[in-house]
Amino acid sequence: MHDDDQVGEDWGLSTLAVRAGHRRTAEQEHSEPIFPTSSFVYGSAAEAARKFGGEEPGNIYSRFTNPTVHTFERRLAALEGGERCVATASGMSAILSTALALLSAGDEIVASRSLFGSTVSLFDKYLGKLGITTRYVELSNLEDWEAALTPATKLLFAETPSNPLSEVVDIGALAEIAHRHDAWLAIDNCFLTPALQRPLALGADLVIHSATKYLDGQGRAVGGAVVGPDKLLEEVFGVVRTCGPCLSPFNAWIFTKGLETLSLRMRAHCANAQALAEWLEAHPAVERVHYSGLTSHAQHELAARQQGAFGAVLGFEVRGGREGAWSVIDATRLLSITGNLGDAKSTITHPGTTTHGRLSEAQKASAGISEGLIRVAVGLEDLEDIRVDLARGLDALAGACTSNGFSE
Ligand SMILES: *Cc1c(COP(=O)(O)O)cnc(C)c1O
Repeated sequence: MHDDDQVGEDWGLSTLAVRAGHRRTAEQEHSEPIFPTSSFVYGSAAEAARKFGGEEPGNIYSRFTNPTVHTFERRLAALEGGERCVATASGMSAILSTALALLSAGDEIVASRSLFGSTVSLFDKYLGKLGITTRYVELSNLEDWEAALTPATKLLFAETPSNPLSEVVDIGALAEIAHRHDAWLAIDNCFLTPALQRPLALGADLVIHSATKYLDGQGRAVGGAVVGPDKLLEEVFGVVRTCGPCLSPFNAWIFTKGLETLSLRMRAHCANAQALAEWLEAHPAVERVHYSGLTSHAQHELAARQQGAFGAVLGFEVRGGREGAWSVIDATRLLSITGNLGDAKSTITHPGTTTHGRLSEAQKASAGISEGLIRVAVGLEDLEDIRVDLARGLDALAGACTSNGFSE
């Protein structure tokens, strides 16, 4: 009989996504079970003592040992090619736990400027209070990164590709810079997932996930994870075990089952996004499309080399500034007006007044967030239906621009 926890050395990503991590119980279940229990019992006082003392492995308490959560962790570790994964309550707690595990007062982070908004707040406001400071650099500019490093820099942190402009950094080159300065490189791999990009194989030390996005893929649950070598992950595990931002077994089960279709979904998301980006680029109401799958994108070649595909989040700038952008968003009937992404449902948002609304005008300008910019996280609906939904507002805008001289 074969043991389901064994991972074949030569298994491909889709096989790992379906098979890795499950340790079948005595019930011989085929599908991965859920263990909604806060604690576990022991056969004797002596066994309890051995397990609490760490002399014998086994489940103790679901803040840090739950079989359903462990199944998700083993499966994601296999997909990312990491020794170990620790699951967390959210993507934000994955980042917080990593920082608490690796950094102390006086240490510095160097991060890309185009990070997820809450990550910036976490670094500036909360890590700042603990005496950990963060410097921001332009994601794709390696000289900018190198110049920002000091002897106190312990962690480099990047999201690639960026949201919503799809900028890309060379992960291997950035890892080389980090290691030359005795620092770790963490990559937030939320936008591509291991189906399209495996940062550890490129030289990064840690991968961070918001499982809330594509790992679930259907907008059902909030969760996160950190993947990397045993030595670093033992520290992250210590934070989660003690501080408590643990993933619930139910959410872990959702993510585990979500992973089974990850490669299929990512391929379909990307195919829709690529076709939509090409169509948008040719539309008269669209001034510019930001998508690394387009040859017009400054880092198209790097993205093609580093990524299995180009992701499903794209930004495009329309004529008519904010008024034009809002008119396109308000003309949609199918796309959901929401800031979330990584869902089977396509979403549309105006970054300048939502996800990036807290930035000053100068910060928006330096981040490339213009008033006419719209972000679409392309879902799994029929491409033609997404296109018709956007064409309604874009065609009207193109007409208004030519007949009324409505332009900026
Ligand atoms: C959503 C997101 C996060 C935060 O994840 P939560 O699960 O919402 O806490 C972090 N990084 C990126 C890139 C995200 O999109």
